[in-house]
Formats: sequence, structure tokens, C-alpha cells
Amino acid sequence: MNAPLREPSFRESVDLMFNRAVRLMDLSPGLEEKIRVCNSTYTVRFGVRLRGAIHTFTGYRSVHSEHMEPVKGGIRYAMGVNQDEVEALAALMTYKCALVEAPFGGSKGGLRIDPREWDEHELEQITRRFAFELVKRDLINPSQNVPAPDMGTGEREMAWMVDQYKRMNTTDINAAACVTGKPLNAGGIHGRVEATGRGVQYALQEFFRHPEDVKRARLAGGLEGKRVIVQGLGNVGYHAAKFLSEEDGVKIVAVIERDGAILNPNGVPVEFLKTHIAATGGVKGFPRGTYVDDGAAALEEECDILIPAAMESVINLTNAERIKAPLIIEAANGPVTAGADEVLRAKGVVIIPDLYANAGGVTVSYFEWVKNLSHIRFGRMQRRQEEAQHALLVSEMERILHSAGVKGGISERFKSEYVRGAGELELVRSGLDDTMRTAYQSMREVWHGRKDVDDLRVAAYLVSIARVAASYRSKGL
Ligand code: NAD
Repeated sequence: MNAPLREPSFRESVDLMFNRAVRLMDLSPGLEEKIRVCNSTYTVRFGVRLRGAIHTFTGYRSVHSEHMEPVKGGIRYAMGVNQDEVEALAALMTYKCALVEAPFGGSKGGLRIDPREWDEHELEQITRRFAFELVKRDLINPSQNVPAPDMGTGEREMAWMVDQYKRMNTTDINAAACVTGKPLNAGGIHGRVEATGRGVQYALQEFFRHPEDVKRARLAGGLEGKRVIVQGLGNVGYHAAKFLSEEDGVKIVAVIERDGAILNPNGVPVEFLKTHIAATGGVKGFPRGTYVDDGAAALEEECDILIPAAMESVINLTNAERIKAPLIIEAANGPVTAGADEVLRAKGVVIIPDLYANAGGVTVSYFEWVKNLSHIRFGRMQRRQEEAQHALLVSEMERILHSAGVKGGISERFKSEYVRGAGELELVRSGLDDTMRTAYQSMREVWHGRKDVDDLRVAAYLVSIARVAASYRSKGL
């Protein structure tokens, strides 16, 4: 099939990918259409008095599918936010949640704003006003619609939103579950901030556990020593780059940011670069690497793994042919357009698709939502009991070894690691790792098991759409 001449919009791109998968399924045309379309998009324009004048802002909350409720998806603050974009992102949320078995429908929101142009107290006023509009219509609600952070938002914005919801619903005992990605002191969960980047790491670890899959990407061996390019050192890109370089021995050979890129064949020190960006606002002037001002061109540099972790459509018909990475993991949503996807597949590039690769965020958001509804921290009931059981076992083993005259006994390191019961962070990471492994297996079975499927994206869509379809059917649709 030839690449389309016109680059489709983001939403059209998601639909094209959906269509490619659905052609291989046996769904009735009616059900197919029901799953594809976005159920509703609410647009709000509201005014806030700031700096002596009234400023009007435009925001959206889109609900793609309510086959399960609540629906879930982040809220993004960026100047490029528009209806097409939130609808594309909401659709991706539906497929993502189905793939990782998080019991939610898909939703997404956005506010057209450059958060860097406003002071903190102004952003708080704007966020509270936006949240007010959404709460009023149950578009923020623990049992109907549960937002989370995305580009340009984080814990701080979520704390303002949950507080706004509480002010408007003073007797709702489950109020804390109305948004996820909150700070710990406002009902958040350990490990949520790092979750999406951590999920990217777990996804790559799982991919490299399968030599057959690694070979499909024309690579060999494990993650250690692999050359990686990361685009966007924000929440997702920073955590992915940090964990992969510190724990898996990959070499971050380039980091691309808004103002250019830093290249270093020996590895860019991620933590130092993050500090430099925080101090100067960009990567320019970073002493430990070569600066180039054409950041996008660095996507085309030689590497083993490319991690676009900034925004959508950065790999498109204008540059896809020149991408050299044999393996791309879509940490951002929609970084590869449908046209570029075809070009890359024809070149034999393996793409680990967004609906799987960045699902770590919604997975840990699911844990946070469950924690909020159950009103208890994970591990609180069993941690010390587990420790006592392990300590009992260790002391009995020591007694037996001692009576058998074995010298040395059990090492102190083993004892301290074994005896320690799992706290919330360990449980969250374990649940996330399990989710990423299980979801990969479900995609992989389709990828390897069906002759008419030759890429992971279609495999992922097939798994997700089948689950959404089953859910609609069981509701009687
Ligand atoms: P963020 O705002 O924390 O970071 C984005 C980073 O990309 C920033 O450092 C920004 O300077 C950089 N950037 C923006 N435009 C760029 C460009 N043209 N070139 C290079 N760098 C650029 O956002 P985030 O939360 O890390 O989200 C990044 C992507 O990951 C988005 O596509 C988002 O939808 C997706 N995502 C985020 C989460 C999450 O939990 N935050 C979950 C799933 C998916």
C-alpha cells in the first residue's frame, strides 16, 4: 500500500491505524463504527480576570468510549490543543486501557494555554476555573470521568483540581478518586510521577527478553550498551532516560529538546542535563556534549533505539525515510503518523506502539484510583506480617545451619533484602511490571501467531478492539 499523499490529522491517523486492524476482524460494520467514533467532546470558553483584564481560555474534554466507566485520560496544557487532538488522544486512551486491562473507557482533555507564560497563582486561578466547568458537567467525577496529568500538567494541577472538586462536593467520601497523579499529601500514590517512564523501561526490558523479537528489529543481545536517542526530557522522557541509563546500562547518545539537541557518543549524563535545563530553560550551553540547534534532525542520527517522548507527529512523511533507528518505542502519544508508519514498516523498522509503550501512566493511575476508593495505602495491612514471617524463616534456617556446623551462615545482605516486606512503592512497581509483561505477551501472541499480522501496532489494536467489542456485546449492543 502506498503512503497517503496528504499527511492525515492526528485523529485521522489514529482512525487509519484502527481501520488497518479492524479489516482483519470479523466485527459488524455497526459495531466497528460505534467503537471508532468519539462519543462526545465538550468545548468550554471561560474568562478569568488576570493582570487587570479578562482573558478568555478554550478547553476541551472528550469522551471516546463509555463501554466501561469511569472514563479516564490526562489533561494537557499546550498552545496546540484542539478538538482533533483531544479526540485522537481520547481514542488512544480507550485502546490503551483495554490493552493493559485497566477498567476504564477513554477520555482526554486539554486547555489551550502556554503554562510558561503565567505565574503559579495565575495558573491556579485558571486551573480552578477550568476544573469548575468540568466538575459542573460530571467531566471530573470519581465514578464518571477521572483526569490525570499530561503534557504541561503535573501533580500541582491535579492537587488544585481535586481541591476544586471537594469544594463543590463537600460530602463525597470518594472525592480523592476524582483525579489521579495527585501529590502524596493530596491522596496520590508512590511511583505515579515516574510511572510512564518506568513503564517504557519495563516495556523495553520485556522486548529484550525475546531474542526472536530483538532479531526482527535487526538487533542482538540485551539492553546493555544499546545506543538510545530520546526526544523530550519532560516527565516521560526524563524518567525513561534516567532508568534505562542508570539501571540497564544503555547509552543515551542524544537528547532532543525544544531549543535543539545534545549529542554525545559516550552517553549524555541525564541528571546533569535535567539540572541544566531547569537552570537555563533549554539544552543549549550544556558542557558535556555537542549542541546542534536543529533538534528534529537529530531524530535521524544513528542509534539502536529511538524514544520519541515529546509530542505527536514528529516522525512524519517528511523525515520517515531518513530515520535510521531499527527500533522505535513510542513513549509519546502518536509520535509516528500513519503515513510514516507505512514508510517505516516497509523499511523493516520495529515500532513498539504508544498504546502499549506509554501505558505505565494509566496503569499506576488505576492503582491510585483503587487506593483512593479503598481509603488505605497498599501494603499497610500485610507489610509487617510478611516481615515477621520472613524473619521467622531466616532464624530457623540459621538455627539449622548452626546446628549442622555450617560456617558463614546467611549473609547480612540477603537477610536485610529478604526480610523487608513490600511497601507501596515496591507493590506499585511490581504491579506495573506485571502489567507491562502481560500486555506485551498478549500483543506478541497475535504478532507471531497470525500470518496476516506483521507489526506490533496492529497486534495491539486487535487485542484492544476485541476486548472493547466484547464489552459492548455483553452490554447488549
Ligand atoms: P512534559 O510536558 O512533562 O514533557 C514534554 C517535554 O518535551 C518537555 O521537556 C518539552 O520541552 C519537550 N518538547 C516539547 N516540544 C518539543 C519538540 N518539538 N521537540 C523536542 N522536545 C519538545 O510532558 P509528558 O507528560 O512527559 O508527555 C510527553 C508525551 O508523553 C505526550 O505525548 C503525552 O501525551 C505522553 N504521555 C504522558 C503521560 C504522563 O503520565 N505524563 C502518560 C502517557 C503518555
